[in-house]
Amino acid sequence: MSNHDLPPSTGLTPAHRVALESALGTGRVLRNHRLAPYTTFKIGGPADGFFEARSADELASSLLLCRELGIAHVVLGLGANILVGDKGVRGMVIRNAARGMQLSEEGILTAESGAVVWPDVIDFAVHGGFSGLEHYAGIPSTVGGALWQNLHFLSPAPARERTMFIDEVLLDARLIHPDGRITTQERAYFDFGYDQSILHHSGDIVLSARFQLQKGSKEAMRRIITENLAWRSERHPPLDTEPSAGSIFKKIEGIGAGRLIDQCGLKGARIGGIEITHRHANIMINRGEGTAAEVRAMIDRVVETVERETGYTLEPEIAFVGEF
Ligand SMILES: Cc1cc2nc3c(=O)[nH]c(=O)nc-3n(C[C@H](O)[C@H](O)[C@H](O)COP(=O)(O)OP(=O)(O)OC[C@H]3O[C@@H](n4cnc5c(N)ncnc54)[C@H](O)[C@@H]3O)c2cc1C
Repeated sequence: MSNHDLPPSTGLTPAHRVALESALGTGRVLRNHRLAPYTTFKIGGPADGFFEARSADELASSLLLCRELGIAHVVLGLGANILVGDKGVRGMVIRNAARGMQLSEEGILTAESGAVVWPDVIDFAVHGGFSGLEHYAGIPSTVGGALWQNLHFLSPAPARERTMFIDEVLLDARLIHPDGRITTQERAYFDFGYDQSILHHSGDIVLSARFQLQKGSKEAMRRIITENLAWRSERHPPLDTEPSAGSIFKKIEGIGAGRLIDQCGLKGARIGGIEITHRHANIMINRGEGTAAEVRAMIDRVVETVERETGYTLEPEIAFVGEF
């Protein structure tokens, strides 16, 4: 399980708040700020301190400051692959809204790590006539979150014969390491796998990334986008009316976590405001007032049932952030 529980912290002291405000700007550090609106699940208690970084420089300086002051901190992208605890986050949450992008004539797309993959980065690449990212249309993600989890989707219809990963087009990324050094690392450094990268345990934060794209037909790219959006709307609950964190459990090669959950008759199961959607057994939706505690209870129920009835052990793929 990817567990991002913060180390024990007393939260922000008044002295921390003064230091943060004077370095990051008056009024820019929000106190006791509810995190639910910043997650696709619409679940999560308050952060002691909340800062929105609007550039890679602001992201780096806020991280350095937290580290210097010894303040626990978490970087949030679109909050599409996390569950934030009901008691919230002690310390600082830095929401990454660093969204600058550039595209060279050679097809090198440079994006700050808070750039939103769909629609912003993909539209930018397609508009410039460069292919490689259009496969990920419809997936909620920042560039940083995409590298953290190695964003993936099926290759184009009709064959859809393999899973494509974003690392296939990654050239390199600028990282800030836990000791404050900033370096540029090529793809090999990241140790990418399915739902995996070194970012899960290294403590590095992505500041920006460069993707090598190839010249492509805009018409062909738009067709892929349309087909992939249609695929999603047929199979996934719509985020605006049925908030979710996408797939909850890791894939089980050749079998599928969703298929096992479905086999156990768990589609439609409900605990409080959390329901396993009828559309896809690996997706839980928040029916309104769902809580993180209810999601955890549903995860336990699914794991126990699937293990008892099929012998397979499911593991959550989402990150758990804060206090539950
Ligand atoms: C409806 C739906 C459908 C989905 N479909 C897919 C799919 O088809 N394929 C797929 O791969 N995923 C899918 N997902 C999962 C999700 O979209 C991806 O995991 C996405 O990459 C998460 O990005 P984020 O910016 O929201 O990251 P967040 O959820 O905000 O963060 C996830 C983790 O990444 C870390 N992180 C964020 N930014 C950085 C950074 N700059 N540097 C280092 N670490 C960072 C965070 O600290 C956290 O631990 C889906 C999710 C939803 C809700």
